[in-house]
Amino acid sequence: MAYVINSIQPDTQNITYVLHGNCYINMTNRCTLRCTFCPKFNKQWDVKGYALRLDSEPDIQQVLAAVNDPTAYKEIVFCGLGEPTLRLDEMLIIARQLKLQGAKIRINTDGLANSIYGKDITPLFNGCVDSLSVSLNAHNTQIYEKYCRPPIDNAFHSVLEFVRASREYVADITVTAIDGLDEVDISACEDIAFGLGVKFRARVLDEVG
Ligand code: SF4
Repeated sequence: MAYVINSIQPDTQNITYVLHGNCYINMTNRCTLRCTFCPKFNKQWDVKGYALRLDSEPDIQQVLAAVNDPTAYKEIVFCGLGEPTLRLDEMLIIARQLKLQGAKIRINTDGLANSIYGKDITPLFNGCVDSLSVSLNAHNTQIYEKYCRPPIDNAFHSVLEFVRASREYVADITVTAIDGLDEVDISACEDIAFGLGVKFRARVLDEVG
């Protein structure tokens, strides 16, 4: 298998971008959260040289065409400057199609899909999502709300519940938090992840992964 490393793809609006040997899918610029540290809220839409501002949200065929050969990458990752589960139906159709072609599928998410859809959507991951990376970003509600500015109540606990529910359907789950934000206790975040029985990764601000 040949991995493609850091090559800029010729998408006019970068529906996909390649980093670390992975192909990242930029499905939407919409978000549930308004994180204070988000580059797009600081008028920065470029990630590692890729312009991620979308003129319009790509349809399923556009995404599949942009990925082209999923076996050229270590992982296919749903992650742009937006929350991919806000396009849940399309995302899952694409994931299933790419999985049939041999892809390993990861979703990087805010973990708020169950709150947004008002039901447990995690069974839909069964068989088509290999791993989840869930942004927790804080060790308690107060700090989470300060940095992530959720528009819904109990968002921090909703993220924890989402992780708990996902464990039945997704084998590999990692909770993440950004190291270096004032008042965020990274070791407490790590303890929460381990308490949930999942992995933890401290992220670096503005690093996509
Ligand atoms: S979830 Fe990600 S893309 Fe959305 S506002 Fe927060 S940092 Fe930005």
